[in-house]
Amino acid sequence: MESKRELKFDTIVVGGGIAGLQAALDLADQDFKVAVVEKDATIGGKMIRLSKVFPTLDCASCITTPKMAAAAHHDNITLFTYCELDSLKRDADALITAEVTQKPRYVDPDKCIGCRQCEYGCPVYVPDHEQGYFNMRKAIYIPFSNAIPQLALMDVENCSLCGKCAKVCPTDAIDYFQQPDKFVIRAKTAVLATGFELTPIDQKPQYNGGKVQNLITSMEMERLLAPHGPYMRVIRPSDGKEPDSIAYVQCAGSRDKTLGIPYCSRVCCMYAIKQAMLLSGALPLADITIYYMDIRAFGKGYEQFFQNAKAMGIEFVKAKVAKIEQGENQYVRVRYENQEGDGGVAEREHDLVVLSLGMVPQWNPAGVCSVSCGSDAFIKCSMPKIAPTLTDMEGVFVAGVAAGPKDIVDTIAEAGAAAMEASKYMVAMGKQQAA
Ligand SMILES: Cc1cc2nc3c(=O)[nH]c(=O)nc-3n(C[C@H](O)[C@H](O)[C@H](O)COP(=O)(O)OP(=O)(O)OC[C@H]3O[C@@H](n4cnc5c(N)ncnc54)[C@H](O)[C@@H]3O)c2cc1C
Repeated sequence: MESKRELKFDTIVVGGGIAGLQAALDLADQDFKVAVVEKDATIGGKMIRLSKVFPTLDCASCITTPKMAAAAHHDNITLFTYCELDSLKRDADALITAEVTQKPRYVDPDKCIGCRQCEYGCPVYVPDHEQGYFNMRKAIYIPFSNAIPQLALMDVENCSLCGKCAKVCPTDAIDYFQQPDKFVIRAKTAVLATGFELTPIDQKPQYNGGKVQNLITSMEMERLLAPHGPYMRVIRPSDGKEPDSIAYVQCAGSRDKTLGIPYCSRVCCMYAIKQAMLLSGALPLADITIYYMDIRAFGKGYEQFFQNAKAMGIEFVKAKVAKIEQGENQYVRVRYENQEGDGGVAEREHDLVVLSLGMVPQWNPAGVCSVSCGSDAFIKCSMPKIAPTLTDMEGVFVAGVAAGPKDIVDTIAEAGAAAMEASKYMVAMGKQQAA
């Protein structure tokens, strides 16, 4: 049997979101050799897909792109994008061995120059998941304009095999016969930074997710608000109407025992307030309502951010939303139980309703790596108070939302801490070997 290609690094970082990139940069700056294994075709995680970030309202793309570029150009960092982590184990000799599969892009990465000629030439249009499925992309494409690496990939599920991309490619990079490539990474430490995904919307039948027009997720609203968003402005997706009334439903998929998600996702109050503020700038005449159970503005400057939103005229209704249905004329009907005043049940209709969905882990290590998870399914920290980036697998550390819901500030701080723990571990390992 042919043995797999083996590559040696000091640390493997799993996940190239902001947590993984920060940990990789902090280690690489200390001269450790870092491999970043990312399953997506680009690094950047959720942060590169956001519009602006609370509480500073910095443009997300403007502050994430430099970190992505710094990682891509760092001499000590190698990016392995569009790669699946098959296993991550610790050997008897205290080394970490990761088995990785490079998924085929059907484009030769050594030849592709990111010119997008294949994309322009492709005749197949597919709903673009990067833009909340609001507009279309081609069957061969670069995920977005500031994706790193700038390499095209073919969506074979939708490719019609017409051959047009191969004809127009100036470097002959299209390879319809590309195969998965399996290889092994050996390292001394690993940092798990596998992040999160949103609570699946269809788990809550009361919200009729997927069946109600103009009921969207918070991530879809991030795309509607983004400068390079699908429409370059905020409109009601079903008919292009400029919305007069927009509502947010808080704790949609968090603090909900019926979904098995009893925890608070920590960022939803703040991102809803942020989006509401951005919307009131984009649509000054629109009414914006936030249905909430209680507002958790926990970070530095966050309470002031909340107060500013109230001062801007955003309406906060203390209520639990019980049902969301399709109203007439493409309105979304929200039925809620008031938690203030006389209480009671009320109904209102809005042009657009946003579900502030919670966070669930994006990766389940079962069968891949023996690291444990907590009852919330996020990776368990073995010393949550005094060393929150330690897992129960020696030499393996955790950073960012992989360990539990958190915002970008806490994610960056934790990534730095994970890098420091990994660095300390490797220095101690070196001393032991020298002795
Ligand atoms: C709608 C919304 C708006 C938000 N707005 C803000 C805001 O304004 N300000 C703020 O501070 N926070 C905000 N947040 C929170 C912010 O998005 C997170 O704090 C941040 O993205 C966490 O980064 P991360 O790297 O831990 O995770 P992620 O961004 O999820 O990155 C994880 C990466 O790991 C990769 N990955 C996963 N599994 C594997 C695997 N098995 N192998 C290889 N790679 C893998 C993923 O593809 C991804 O690239 C918002 C969140 C949401 C949902």
